[in-house]
Amino acid sequence: MSIMRLGPWFNSKRILLLWAAIICAALALFFYQEYRQLDKNYSILPVDGETPEYANGTIKWLVKRQHPDGYFVSNPDLFDEPSILNKESVRLTRYAVSVLDELDALEQINKEALIQFLLRNYKSPSNAIGNLKGFSALPNSPVTLRSTLDSVIILRKLKALGVIDSEAVAQLILAYQNDDGGFWDPDYPEFGKQPTLKATANAVLSLMYLDKLNSMVIKPESQEMINNFVADSWSSESKLFAPFPGHPPTNSYDIFYAWVSVYYLPINQENDQIQSKLLHLEELIESINSQFKTSDNVYSEEINTDISSLKATRLISTTMKELGKLDVVSTPDIVSFIKEYRDPRMAFTNNIYTAHSAVKTLEVLASTRKTKQLNLYKVLTLTASIVALLLLTTLITFQRKVRSRRHRDLVRQAQSDRLTGLHNRYYLEMQFERYSNTFSHMAFVLIDVDHFKSINDELGHLVGDEVLIELSELLRRNTRKTDTLARWGGEEFAILCPETEPSQAETLAEKLRCMVESNNFNNVGKITCSFGISWTANQQTLRELYLIADKALYQSKRNGRNQVTYL
Ligand code: GH3
Ligand code: MG
Ligand code: MG
Repeated sequence: MSIMRLGPWFNSKRILLLWAAIICAALALFFYQEYRQLDKNYSILPVDGETPEYANGTIKWLVKRQHPDGYFVSNPDLFDEPSILNKESVRLTRYAVSVLDELDALEQINKEALIQFLLRNYKSPSNAIGNLKGFSALPNSPVTLRSTLDSVIILRKLKALGVIDSEAVAQLILAYQNDDGGFWDPDYPEFGKQPTLKATANAVLSLMYLDKLNSMVIKPESQEMINNFVADSWSSESKLFAPFPGHPPTNSYDIFYAWVSVYYLPINQENDQIQSKLLHLEELIESINSQFKTSDNVYSEEINTDISSLKATRLISTTMKELGKLDVVSTPDIVSFIKEYRDPRMAFTNNIYTAHSAVKTLEVLASTRKTKQLNLYKVLTLTASIVALLLLTTLITFQRKVRSRRHRDLVRQAQSDRLTGLHNRYYLEMQFERYSNTFSHMAFVLIDVDHFKSINDELGHLVGDEVLIELSELLRRNTRKTDTLARWGGEEFAILCPETEPSQAETLAEKLRCMVESNNFNNVGKITCSFGISWTANQQTLRELYLIADKALYQSKRNGRNQVTYL
C-alpha cells in the first residue's frame, strides 16, 4: 500500500514528523512515569559514596542528643534532670552510635566522654570467680549480657576496644552458657536462669564484636551445643523459633536471634547446608510470609497480628539478606513503610530506635536499589524529550520553509507569463521602478513578430503558441542578465536595458533581429521580427517609453518589417 493511500494522516513528511514527535513525547512521558515509580521505590536507598537525603537531618538530630556525660538520651530537654541516666541509656547510646557510624558521622560526637561513661560501668560481677569482666547499664546495677553487648558494640564502633580487657569480657560472656548450650542473661529476670535465643544471640554477637568468636575462645563443643540449643528451639508444630526450647513461639524477633546464634559460629561458617538445615530455611520463609506479613507487606513482631513493626521488618530483612534470600522481602513496600517515619526535612527524628531501624533497614536493602534502571530511565526520558523537541523544531522549520516556498511560488507565478515562462508586464513594471531609482538612464526595446496572424490562421493557434515559446527561448538566451526581458502581451516582447545608450540598444536589437531571421523555427521555418527602441534619462514613465517605442516599431513595420528603428 502506498503511503498516499493511508489517508491524510500519513500523506506528508510533515505529518510523519508530527507523528514521530508525538510518539517520542509519549515515550518520554512513559519513561518518566517509570522513572518516577522507581525513584519513589528505590531512590531513598543509600548508594556508596553518596550522602543519603535523610543523613544530615538525622545526624544533626542525633548529635544533639548526646549528654555532656557521653551517653545519648531521647530528649535533650531533660539533660538537667537528675534521673536522666537510666537503664535505657546504654542501649539508646548503642543505637545512636550505630546510626552515626552508618552515616559516617562519629567524628561529630564527644567520643572521650562516651568512653568514660562506659568505663564507669565496666567491672567484675560481684560473685565472679577468675578474671571475668563485663558492663552494667547503671553504675550500681549488676553486669548483664545485654549491657555488655551494647557497650562492646559502642567501643568497637569508636575503635576503643583497647580500653578494656577483651579476654576477660569474653570469659564473662561464656560464663552465661548453660548445660543445654543456650545463654541466659540476668538482664531478663522474668526468665530466671532459663537460656533464651535472645541471650544466646547477644552472647554470640558480643564475642563477634570483641573479635573473640573463634574456636580458641569458644570451643567447638560449645559451638555445637549452641547449634543444638537453636535446633531445640525450633517448633516443628508452628514451624517457627520459640524464645527457648519447650516454649511456644511468640514473635518474629526469635527468627533473627536463632539466625545470629548459629550464623557467625566458626564451625558453621563454612557450611551453608548446616545453617539452612538448622534454620529450616524453606519452612521458616513460609512461616514468615504466613504469620508475620502484614497488610502493608512488611512484618509484625507478634504472630498473626496486622501491626507492622519497623524493628521486626529490620530483623527479618537483615536475616534474609545474610541468608541470600533478600528477594523474599518487598523493597518497595518496606521503603514506603519506612518513608512514613520521616520528618518534613526527610530525616528520621522520631526516636533513636526508629532512626536506627530505618537507617539500618535501608542499608540492608541498598543492594536491591535499581540504580541501573533508575539511570536508564532518566537517560531515556531525557533522550526521548530531546528527540521530541528536535522533531518539533524540525517540523516548525519545515512548516515555515514550505510556507515561504509557497509564497515564493505565488509571487513568481504572479510575475511570469504562463505560456512562455518569461517575466510578464507586471514584473517589467516593477523592474522599471527599480531601475529608475538605481540607474541614470535606460533603453526600452519593443519586439513584435511580423505577420504573426497569418501563422495562426494558416497553421493554427497551437503552432502559433509553439513559435512564441521558441522565440522566447531564443530571446532569453541572447539577453544579458542585467537586462530584463518580458512578454509584453500577445506576440510582443520588451527588453528593459539599464545604463544603456540608444546606440547600444540598437546594436542589441540588430543582433536579435539577425538571430530571429536566421533561426529555423519548428513547423514554420523562417520568421522575422520588427523592433522599436526608446530611451530615457528617467524623465518618462514606462507608458511614455512604450508609446515612443511603439511609434518606432510602427515605423519599422511601415518601412517593410524585419528592421530596427530608433526615432
Ligand atoms: P504585423 O506584422 O503587422 O505585426 O502583423 P501581425 O499579424 O503580427 O499583426 P497583429 O498584431 O494584427 O496580429 C497579432 C496576432 O497575434 C493576433 C493574435 O491572434 C495573435 N496572438 C496574440 N497572442 C497570441 C498567443 O498567445 N498565441 C497565439 N497563437 N497567437 C497570439
Ligand atoms: Mg502585434
Ligand atoms: Mg505582429
